[in-house]
Amino acid sequence: MRRGRSARFGAALVALLLLVGAGALRAELRAGAAKRPITPDLEGHAPVFLAGFGLNRRATGIHDDLWARCLALEAGGGRLVICGVDSIGLFYEDVEKIRAAARSQLTGPADLVVASSHNHEAPDTMGLWGPKLGVSGISEAYNAFVVERTAEAAAEAVGSLRPATIRLARFHSPELDRFIHDNRPPVVHDSELVILSAAGRDGRPIATLVNWANHPEALGSKNTLVTADYPAHLYTRLEELLGGVAVFVNGAVGGMQSPLGAKVIDPATGAEAPDGTFRKAELIGRRVAELAAQALGPARPVAIERVEYHEKLISIPVTNVRFLKAAEAGVFRGRKVMDPQAVTTTPVGWIRLSRGQRPVLEIALVPGELYPELSVGGIERYPGADFPEAPLEPPIKKLMRAPYRMLFGLANDEIGYIIPKAEWDENEPWLQNSPRRWYGEVNSVGPEAAPRIVAALQELLGKR
Ligand SMILES: [Zn+2]
Repeated sequence: MRRGRSARFGAALVALLLLVGAGALRAELRAGAAKRPITPDLEGHAPVFLAGFGLNRRATGIHDDLWARCLALEAGGGRLVICGVDSIGLFYEDVEKIRAAARSQLTGPADLVVASSHNHEAPDTMGLWGPKLGVSGISEAYNAFVVERTAEAAAEAVGSLRPATIRLARFHSPELDRFIHDNRPPVVHDSELVILSAAGRDGRPIATLVNWANHPEALGSKNTLVTADYPAHLYTRLEELLGGVAVFVNGAVGGMQSPLGAKVIDPATGAEAPDGTFRKAELIGRRVAELAAQALGPARPVAIERVEYHEKLISIPVTNVRFLKAAEAGVFRGRKVMDPQAVTTTPVGWIRLSRGQRPVLEIALVPGELYPELSVGGIERYPGADFPEAPLEPPIKKLMRAPYRMLFGLANDEIGYIIPKAEWDENEPWLQNSPRRWYGEVNSVGPEAAPRIVAALQELLGKR
């Protein structure tokens, strides 16, 4: 009988330990991070065309490194890696190569998000900024190098996963708005800083991810030195202040969110920092890092029991003749193959970190440059619009429910501008009876991009 009781007690203890063990396995958050330079070798990857402005802008030197920076998170059986890459944009085809290469280095499954910073002072990984019209600017050797290095950083981030706590913060101020110039109505910015910081259970920092929205193009169109632009300073300052790996993911940068034309005062001189200077990039990057660190100051650790990732491939009709001709001429080098009906396939995604049934952080993943009014609201009906009756898309950040909401632009693909259909304007008269055509449509696949992407996100969010 004694024996029986102790056996029963032993069995109960084992069951209890199993339960606790399973609970810990399910609930314990782990985090890891890693970074790799993806700076081009100007000889090995030659010729290196800089992307984002005009054709034939050849790189003449390196000012600072470009990076692939990854944060891995694991909880509740979900394992996710978020990589921010200093690139003008990576097409879905290259993202799939990164995913395959990373998975070949991992044991067990992991979801991988690759978001380009949209850097305008980095090599042309899309092909649109080559030596002349119709000739690709892609260096296959460089794209392959970005794939290899980003996959390595992702795998290393997963390999370094350890028990962790995270803190979240959000911050908004007029100063952040002043770093952004918008040259098309409506003047809307999605300039909120949303920050996730992960530290080990021992308190040692792992990584800080900053989500903010502005074109990394403070250096402008004349610069020929490779640089990460303002994110370069965001990385170094944030790592100085907080330690760990700084990761930057851009947000709704369309329509058009730029440091060019923004009035940024240099505290050292009291004068405005000119466009196209390294100083302007430094002032913005450092300040955003300092505001992010400040916002994190009072933040307490939050419990996360589950990390979820959802992705859906959607089709969007391509009506942009420039893009169709580029595809036909082989500018994308086998990427972005359009089907005979000129439809492109692109991914839309959604990340949720939650505790029990409560979402704590949600992230919408958008495959291009979203007009900010599609993120935070404020679409306008102007006279001159091509689709005056088009329904207004609901703002994406308002579709989410968690107290912290991020939006990743250029996530897993870059299809160009995503313009509210009601603001689409390819034909005269121009919006607001402007005497000239507004800039935007020329870099968009077409008027169906916004409605289809928002509908896909609504569908993903409906699954909760
Ligand atoms: Zn852009």
